[in-house]
Amino acid sequence: MKQLSVFLINPYIYDYSAYSFWSSPLGLLYVGAILRKNNMDIRLIDCMRTVEEKRKADGRGPFIKEKVGHLLPLRGIHKRLKRYGISKEQLAAELSILEPPDLILVTSIMTYWYPGTQEVVEIARELFPSSKIIVGGIYPTLCYDQAIIRMSKADLVVRHNEIERLYAFIENRFSLALSFKPSPYDLHDIPYPAYDLYNDIPFVPLLTSYGCAFACTYCATPYMHPRIVRRDAGHVVDEICYWHEYGVKRYIIYDDSLLYKSALFAKPLLKKVSTLPFPIEIYNPNAINAAFIDEELACLLFSAGFQEVRIGLETIDAGLQVSTGGKVNLKVFERALGHLSKGGFSMDQISAYILSGLPFQKWQDVKASIDYLSGLGVRTHIAEYTPIPHTPLFDTYHMHARYPISEDAIYQNNALFPFAWEGFTDEDLAFLKQYVQDKSSR
Ligand code: SF4
Repeated sequence: MKQLSVFLINPYIYDYSAYSFWSSPLGLLYVGAILRKNNMDIRLIDCMRTVEEKRKADGRGPFIKEKVGHLLPLRGIHKRLKRYGISKEQLAAELSILEPPDLILVTSIMTYWYPGTQEVVEIARELFPSSKIIVGGIYPTLCYDQAIIRMSKADLVVRHNEIERLYAFIENRFSLALSFKPSPYDLHDIPYPAYDLYNDIPFVPLLTSYGCAFACTYCATPYMHPRIVRRDAGHVVDEICYWHEYGVKRYIIYDDSLLYKSALFAKPLLKKVSTLPFPIEIYNPNAINAAFIDEELACLLFSAGFQEVRIGLETIDAGLQVSTGGKVNLKVFERALGHLSKGGFSMDQISAYILSGLPFQKWQDVKASIDYLSGLGVRTHIAEYTPIPHTPLFDTYHMHARYPISEDAIYQNNALFPFAWEGFTDEDLAFLKQYVQDKSSR
């Protein structure tokens, strides 16, 4: 049987700011690994390239970028739009020297990044008219009706939980039977993501679970992954040992439930990692939940190689904390700080996220949260609220946004501050960003 050839494409994006906080197309690389196990020949074209000379010691780095003119829906918005990643001309040049593949998989991550995905699909369609193009990722998952219109040049658009449609499409179009068709939730059956397709691997994200025990009103995790599925600690450690053979030292954990019921998962995992015969560095760009941190866990996080701990505080307003999900309060936050400090973390290694720009939030609420954290000596990250479809906050308030966020996902970009109002203006946000900087430089 003829071996199918597959291109995996991570498109370039248009945005007002972007930086690689250990970003990579993890889902696409998992699907690539599954197809490779089905004897397909896979090739990666990752448009989101980093300026390697500027990559930091921890693996983060700036994407290559270029200023561009405004995209049509964004005309009239006085901010400088850029393209992050390689240009469409460079992509076309790189693709045009390759043999046409049988299949092209294109991922689409943030909902408001769809213009880059759409262009990439159109380039691929023009260059390879007979290849089958499939678009997946978060954009089609959260904005399916918009995606099937905008990705009309693709042969199939799939949501994240529709891998069976992808399998069926491949079997029908190529008249074959795939021998390996795992669910993405079979965390012990799916192969490791195909990071070996990169020449250098500066870091590897570890998928340790899906889902979350909480239901914060601004977060899409409960919609996307309604139940918690976890991977055995031993399986995760096996993966670390596998990538160690490739020289990988840094691992990224995005787990929304990492510390939930820690006796069953996080503690066994961290104990195993702590006793590896080689040291590793672990980063957690997603916040972890302060409510689950006890002294033993703090020590284990430190000894396993966590380089920093980011905690989601979101606000010090008790009413807002409860109404948005109730995952933390000031008492448990301060108790967690004490445990982390005893566990070995310096205050430089601990930081907290504060949510900014929620519907009808007042700027004074954010300032009070910054002042509170500053008083404790905790570094603050302002997390600008992104309205995400299928979340309670989006469903309740979308009509109050200053842009039509439910009609066109491009307006869901938090850089546009969709929920600015007279109680929290663009100027207030600029003030708060400067205020945080001033506080942290003191
Ligand atoms: S705890 Fe985190 S992942 Fe879970 S619902 Fe809340 S914001 Fe989402």
